[in-house]
Amino acid sequence: MQNSATPTHCPYCALQCGMNLTPAADGSVEVTERADFPVNRGALCGKGRTAPAVLSSRVRLTSPLVRSGDGTLVPATWDEALDRIAGNLARTRQEHGADALGVFGGGGLTNEKAYALGKFARVVLGTSQIDYNGRFCMSSAAAAGTKAFGLDRGLPFPLEDVPRTGCVILVGSNLAETMPPSLRFFSELKANGGTLIVVDPRRTRTAEQADLHLAPRPGTDLALALGLLHLVVAEGRVDEAYVEERTSGWEEARAAAMAHWPEQVERITGVSVPELREAVRLFCEPEHAMVLTARGPEQQAKGTDTVGAWINLCLATGRVGRPLSGYGCLTGQGNGQGGREHGQKADQLPGYRKLTDPAARRHVAGVWGVDPDSLPGPGRSAYELLDALGTDIRSLLLMGSNPVVSAPRAAHVEQRLRSLDFLAVCDVVLSETAALADVVLPVTQWAEETGTTTSLEGRVLLRRRAITPPDGVRSDLEVLHELAARLGVEKGFPTDAEEVFEELRRASAGGLADYSGITYRRLAQENGVFWPCPEQETGGAEHPGTPRLFLDRFPTEDGRARFVPVSHRPSGEEPDDEYPVLLTTGRVVAQYQSGAQTRRVDELNAAAPGPFVELHPRLAARLGAAEGDPVAVVSRRGRAVAPARITTGIRPDTVFMPFHWPGEGRANTLTNPALDPTSRMPEFKVCAVRVEAVTP
Ligand code: SF4
Repeated sequence: MQNSATPTHCPYCALQCGMNLTPAADGSVEVTERADFPVNRGALCGKGRTAPAVLSSRVRLTSPLVRSGDGTLVPATWDEALDRIAGNLARTRQEHGADALGVFGGGGLTNEKAYALGKFARVVLGTSQIDYNGRFCMSSAAAAGTKAFGLDRGLPFPLEDVPRTGCVILVGSNLAETMPPSLRFFSELKANGGTLIVVDPRRTRTAEQADLHLAPRPGTDLALALGLLHLVVAEGRVDEAYVEERTSGWEEARAAAMAHWPEQVERITGVSVPELREAVRLFCEPEHAMVLTARGPEQQAKGTDTVGAWINLCLATGRVGRPLSGYGCLTGQGNGQGGREHGQKADQLPGYRKLTDPAARRHVAGVWGVDPDSLPGPGRSAYELLDALGTDIRSLLLMGSNPVVSAPRAAHVEQRLRSLDFLAVCDVVLSETAALADVVLPVTQWAEETGTTTSLEGRVLLRRRAITPPDGVRSDLEVLHELAARLGVEKGFPTDAEEVFEELRRASAGGLADYSGITYRRLAQENGVFWPCPEQETGGAEHPGTPRLFLDRFPTEDGRARFVPVSHRPSGEEPDDEYPVLLTTGRVVAQYQSGAQTRRVDELNAAAPGPFVELHPRLAARLGAAEGDPVAVVSRRGRAVAPARITTGIRPDTVFMPFHWPGEGRANTLTNPALDPTSRMPEFKVCAVRVEAVTP
């Protein structure tokens, strides 16, 4: 075991805070401040500070498990477990074809794992049916960014630019709870005289910091953005020179916005016309300004258009591709960005290449040493893949995800998982999804392995192995190596992360997300490298990476950003007599995503022990519910029960539930899997429900 401090990064969210890990003699691991990393400068939230508790959790898996004849999961050797997985995958392929095999990944997997998983699906299994839970996280922003700019990278500038801009509109992000160390940038913005506008139906801890809080009805922020753009035009605040020089498509977008009158927008959103005018004034008066979006606008059946409307606002006011201004997406999961750049997304090949592009197929097939024609085409998106389990898809390999808790319409997804012929899960604990598996493989965690992630800034980072993993566990890369060999592919799946990264560099070379100039050596010496970072000619200086995008041109055919005309439309479900209230879902500070890791940490459980239903006093009074009373929330998909948390910080027509827990209080039992037509992202943020008092 190493016993000096190892600089690395947090296993959880996309901020990827820097930390030092030091193993102690008693086997525990100490987290200490790493002040040199500029994103968090030593600060950590409770999740990061307590992350080592999962390493030594008493429920940590240290032996493969296989489903026995009596239906229970029992310990097995690695050879038995791997043989059983390979045998079942081969049998399914022989009986039903390669597309009857599904692969489901996670936004927490390192770049190397995501790359190897995509290659495994397409080269070893030959299936098109691979996607990952990052589809649930930010795919609408990715689609909107690609449409407008020709490229999607969470933030096209470093977070350190935020304090020096003049105004930030933060749309649907509760970063005070989801990534607390980032709040510092916004406090500094205000200390420097800048203003913060928060758009959120709830008065969150983040909204409490705002100079102006706009609280639209859930599902109406598309109309809100259009109303702001209408006022920008009406008040003569369009940056005509910028629009003329750097954009295309303005007239159509302008016409769409002008059809959304402020008074009409007020009726749709509940945000008053004076508030709209004040937001426009605060956003347009400073020389620099930014819009940052997160899951609020994205997790809607119109998420791509909603983000597109915010991008249009930025373009019309000349706020993109200029220093200290811009549009950015606050990516959620630890490697949500890198995870979708390198091949585990249904439609993508490494380097952010399109699976439908013949040149991209040729390039990647050349690196992989296979015939381009042997590569399958795009497959189903995450929810569609889960929905096809047990019918078109008969066997599933799942790595780093817990859809029984995190997927929309979760009871249905759970039933689909149960209907599979065969399910194999790689995880560190027996998650709710792993508990359904035929084979469970115990794998290494972040501190026990080396690999890279790409943060919300597009900064590629090196996570270093700091401790020796427990006996009995293997890395995901070892799992893929062993399965590939058993399925007849002896080469091409190394177990060493750096070796995988070297291949990833070549596969990404020339792509939008070009990592070819990034090496482990550089990552060990520098505080991350921003992509694109192409490899320079031999003898030339190393490419410095690209912290700021679009300053000269956009990576579109004509070098211009594209306005996309969008119009407001209702959500997938609007309230009616039977379901008169809106439900929106989200996170709390002490838990992370499906809770598979954080629910194993005593300190976090003490802070956030279970689900709740946040509701306004007027709604609570109508139900006769007092603080802490159980209330039922019922949607067309099911019923969840949790204690009432009564607050004036939420609209009377809306309830909120965090989604970290399984069981009776599972918020995703209720959520609507209506999909955005472009991003295929489900509508987690809004559905129609009724709320009922529960008689004890
Ligand atoms: Fe980890 Fe995110 Fe918390 Fe930072 S903000 S410590 S990356 S969970």
